[in-house]
Amino acid sequence: MENEDLKSISKYKIEVYAKYTKGVYVCPHCGNDMLDRFYSNAKGFKDSHFGLMLIIECDKCFENFCSHGIGQIPYFLENVAKGKNKFFKPDEAA
Ligand SMILES: [Zn+2]
Repeated sequence: MENEDLKSISKYKIEVYAKYTKGVYVCPHCGNDMLDRFYSNAKGFKDSHFGLMLIIECDKCFENFCSHGIGQIPYFLENVAKGKNKFFKPDEAA
């Protein structure tokens, strides 16, 4: 875990309910597989008892779900920087 990584996402922390998915890219509510657009639908990070979680909004049922976020920080930031993220614009990137 890199402290720099954690600092760079502090402004992306949100407090929402999100169900954990074992399938990482698959919505646990409706089974929607979001592998090819996972980070574009990422709406922030949240601390939990299991560590940092990345929050995703399903683009089919619009429910929130989450998976472990630590390893996903660089991919999330890159997605935002490229203007691909649905919730954050590039100029808001770290
Ligand atoms: Zn869904």
